[in-house]
Amino acid sequence: MFQQAIDTVRAKALGSSRYGNFIDGRWIEPIEGKYFADHSPINGRLIAEFAESTPADIELALDAAHRARAKWAAVSPTDRARILNRIADRLEDNLEILALAETMDNGKPIRETRGADLPLAIDHFRYFAGCIRAEEGSISTIDEKTIAYHFKEPIGVVGQIIPWNFPLLMAAWKLAPALAAGNCIVIKPAEQTPLSLMMFAELTADILPTGVINIVTGHGSVVGRALAESPRIGKVAFTGSTATGRAIMGYAASNLIPQTMELGGKSPNIFLPDVMERDDAFLDKAVEGFALFAFNKGEVCTCPSRALIHESIFDRFLEKAIARVERIRVGDPLDPETQMGPQASQDQLSKILDYIEIGKGEGASCRTGGERFLPGGELDQGYFVRPTVFVGDNSMRIFQDEIFGPVVSVTPFTDIDDAIGIANDTRYGLGAGVWSRNGNDAYRLGRSIQAGRVWTNCYHAYPAHAAFGGYKESGFGRENHRAMLAHYQQTKNLLVSYDEQPLGLF
Ligand code: NAD
Repeated sequence: MFQQAIDTVRAKALGSSRYGNFIDGRWIEPIEGKYFADHSPINGRLIAEFAESTPADIELALDAAHRARAKWAAVSPTDRARILNRIADRLEDNLEILALAETMDNGKPIRETRGADLPLAIDHFRYFAGCIRAEEGSISTIDEKTIAYHFKEPIGVVGQIIPWNFPLLMAAWKLAPALAAGNCIVIKPAEQTPLSLMMFAELTADILPTGVINIVTGHGSVVGRALAESPRIGKVAFTGSTATGRAIMGYAASNLIPQTMELGGKSPNIFLPDVMERDDAFLDKAVEGFALFAFNKGEVCTCPSRALIHESIFDRFLEKAIARVERIRVGDPLDPETQMGPQASQDQLSKILDYIEIGKGEGASCRTGGERFLPGGELDQGYFVRPTVFVGDNSMRIFQDEIFGPVVSVTPFTDIDDAIGIANDTRYGLGAGVWSRNGNDAYRLGRSIQAGRVWTNCYHAYPAHAAFGGYKESGFGRENHRAMLAHYQQTKNLLVSYDEQPLGLF
């Protein structure tokens, strides 16, 4: 299956098994001529080589972005929207190979890349194409003869740094609003998963003017840092770990530039007693809602990695939930039947297995999973873990630290106040889930949980028009929703006097 997938991708898009940087609309060798190998987490096989760039390559990309800046900013919103829509169409035409590439590079199941990552990324470009046409400046009448005009202008050249867990979708979240607002971009993909963004460049190179998007690959501590530290960017947008976010904020502070930070999480998923009132479709939905910690193998910043179940239904609900978790089909992510693939890297696998041992050592009770999974054949070279359910209490490290894997830590609660207390007893505040048909309780929980996104009776939905982002150490600024445009714009005010009389001050 893997060979067929890589052959399909190579035949249609992967022009080369070695990628340079995409700068000024061309593929350019890294200045020092070094490359790093990118292996698939499915079986350890080589996918392609990518430029191991240096700060000098970032400078080249910034040169190109600055050259393109004035021209791109002058393109009308109507024409920018047309270009964004063309990008969306091109991605849609190539959905299948992009989904295959993403699955090969990240290990996420093909049913997710086909059904979620790619459609959401495509919709993002269409959504912001619509938003930019609806953008309006404003006029304030200061007095009869004095008018304040407000214009929205692009920031100029922006830096973007993305993680490996939703490679193309995270890129779309950043590229679409930045382009719509008229900015030029230097973007760095994660070193574990550069493939889909490079294919994006191959597939859309004829649509955008040269220099508007520039992509540089390499290690975060070298090129990510060089980009984030550069005084030649007007904003930095980052998605990744809280630790790296802190470092990037430091770099940005020294340049006095704005940042948006989408960081880690430890999201609570709360099940109220009424989910078990009737044995019906709603209960089934809630049970699935519990199992969603395994979506994208738990490598999701909003992973519902803490489940809070009311004490009156704890044992009965958990039994059903574990039965569902044990039915999750783990295996080759290129197989459309597979529900959970391998973790994205050896580092991730080791980190998750370490946390499983930490949980056992802390005295948490492991109810299912708790070990590496070897599917057999060449997949034994892949980084598979069994979905794991622990029962314990919220003071444990497995409840407090972001594991970023298919591990859920479960605890009971007594009443709504107790649930709110446990839910908020975390340094993070990105997502949360509430499951109940009792509107008053669900509303109260939703408003009381300190998180930027609270799903009620759903989870892991990411529509382009719903604002997304963190409280507390999960970051700040929002992505998605037209409000995002403001993060890529600055306001120009023209204050105009139509009075012919002097002020009379001097
Ligand atoms: P990471 O912080 O190590 O890396 C993210 C990106 O930052 C990569 O491109 C990396 O190369 C780059 N980078 C690393 N060090 C850098 C430095 N010193 N300067 C500049 N760039 C640097 O994170 P990760 O392990 O790749 O991603 C997982 C983390 O991302 C998790 O904590 C997860 O919660 C978070 N995440 C958050 C969201 C969100 O929207 N809030 C989405 C996805 C992932």
